[in-house]
Amino acid sequence: MAGPRDPEVMKIVYNRVLNKLVCRKCGALNPPSAEKCRRCKSRNLRPKRLLAGMKKG
Ligand SMILES: [Zn+2]
Repeated sequence: MAGPRDPEVMKIVYNRVLNKLVCRKCGALNPPSAEKCRRCKSRNLRPKRLLAGMKKG
């Protein structure tokens, strides 16, 4: 049985939490597939990735 502290579970949870788009305008969280903010309709979204977005270009 995988408990809540299972490393695999934590990885999935982390991916789900971080795999979101944050609106630069109002700060709302949007699903990763969103093309525009669900709150203010802005298209100025950035990915909420803390560790994965290290490469440039
Ligand atoms: Zn917004």
